[in-house]
Amino acid sequence: MKVSKYNFIKNINGVNVFFNAKTCALAVVDDNFMNALEDIEANNFIEDNYDKKLIEDMKLSGCIIGDNVDEVRQIEFYRNLSKYDKSSLALTLAPTLACNFRCTYCFENHGNKVMNEKTQDEIISFIKNQIKNIKNLSITWYGGEPLIARKIIYSLSEKILALCEENKVIYTSFIITNASLLTDQDILLFKKYKIRGAQVTIDGPKDVHDSRRISCNGKSTFDLLINNVNKLLNNGLDVIVRINVDKENINRIKELIFVLKDRIDKYSKLKIDFGKVSTFTEVCKSIEKSCFDNEEYADLLLPLTDNIINMGFDVNKMNIYPQVKYNYCCADYINSFVIDVDGFIYKCWNHVGVKEKSCGHISEMEKITSNEYLKWIQWNPLKNKKCKECKMLPICMGGCPDLVIDSKNDPVCDIVKYNLDNIIKFYYEKLKGVE
Ligand code: SF4
Ligand code: SF4
Ligand code: SF4
Repeated sequence: MKVSKYNFIKNINGVNVFFNAKTCALAVVDDNFMNALEDIEANNFIEDNYDKKLIEDMKLSGCIIGDNVDEVRQIEFYRNLSKYDKSSLALTLAPTLACNFRCTYCFENHGNKVMNEKTQDEIISFIKNQIKNIKNLSITWYGGEPLIARKIIYSLSEKILALCEENKVIYTSFIITNASLLTDQDILLFKKYKIRGAQVTIDGPKDVHDSRRISCNGKSTFDLLINNVNKLLNNGLDVIVRINVDKENINRIKELIFVLKDRIDKYSKLKIDFGKVSTFTEVCKSIEKSCFDNEEYADLLLPLTDNIINMGFDVNKMNIYPQVKYNYCCADYINSFVIDVDGFIYKCWNHVGVKEKSCGHISEMEKITSNEYLKWIQWNPLKNKKCKECKMLPICMGGCPDLVIDSKNDPVCDIVKYNLDNIIKFYYEKLKGVE
């Protein structure tokens, strides 16, 4: 028996709290646990000296493992299983890159095209070819502002839903929208076409939001969005309010939460999600100075989240409690694609519309082996010595690949590296509260 290399013990006011990054188990542990751990590490362990249940729990939590277990190898094995699993297909479709907003941090080049029929047919034909081999299909409607091309969303949805029903494939769909164009008719059609909800970005109280999420006609959209979020929620649809955070709006977030509490009818059903504003392309380079780095962001995320939970809101738990990751994101998963208005395919969401970063075209999807595609699929943080030896590997998995994939730069560690200690403390306090 030996101890896992992914164990963390944090002493909080004299109490030992254990976390294992390979299983994400968290527990308050006693002296017997600590003694067993020490004995195993010192090679003095005699199993009969310890309570059976304690040892079983230690094994179950991933804290102790068999002598012959190679944890890094296991991680690589599960990573490959997950990465090359083709039972699900995840498509992010941008029926247009046009947008009626000009957000200060937007990285897209918009134009005013909408997806033509040929490209729509090619998408359907691709799905038809895949449908026999998959169990789940998820579509995320993306843009630009996807509702500018609402007819395409509904016409594609009709065909895709029919294919899923015919082939008993589980279908889920979601839309990322600025919500300024949402109509009552859209809500009915969301329900008809199983678009289960929407992510709507609101970046602060009225003055802050309107100065960052600038509408092309110069009009304020804040009140309109609050009304539309209410409409979605009151019709039983899920809403994630996304708040993109940087140094410009961080001090006004709490005010926004008070406004939401006051003006959203069913705020307990709404989920809040934070995004860190980043400069992904030249288009948004001008806002570089106002962006937080991961370390700074980690410091402020947890107190902010705690505050919001205490006010009765639900938050995206993935933002807080670490998850075992076999892929960092959809970009390095084999069956996930972003498809732009012209049918060009990308792995990373941030590249949509940047043709030189495209992996190929939907019309040749079946035989796609371009370098631009393979580099995502074959990207492997385990090839990096730092990541391979890192205790955070199972919950970080090398950080955002887009930041390193075309360079020899060091990996950019996920925020979990900087706030794990605080997360353990945060959950310990929560557990203590329910005792
Ligand atoms: S709403 Fe979205 S796509 Fe439109 S400008 Fe803002 S960030 Fe860009
Ligand atoms: S590679 Fe990075 S930027 Fe691209 S989708 Fe993944 S996390 Fe986002
Ligand atoms: S990116 Fe950083 S934290 Fe993540 S696994 Fe690599 S070295 Fe560890």
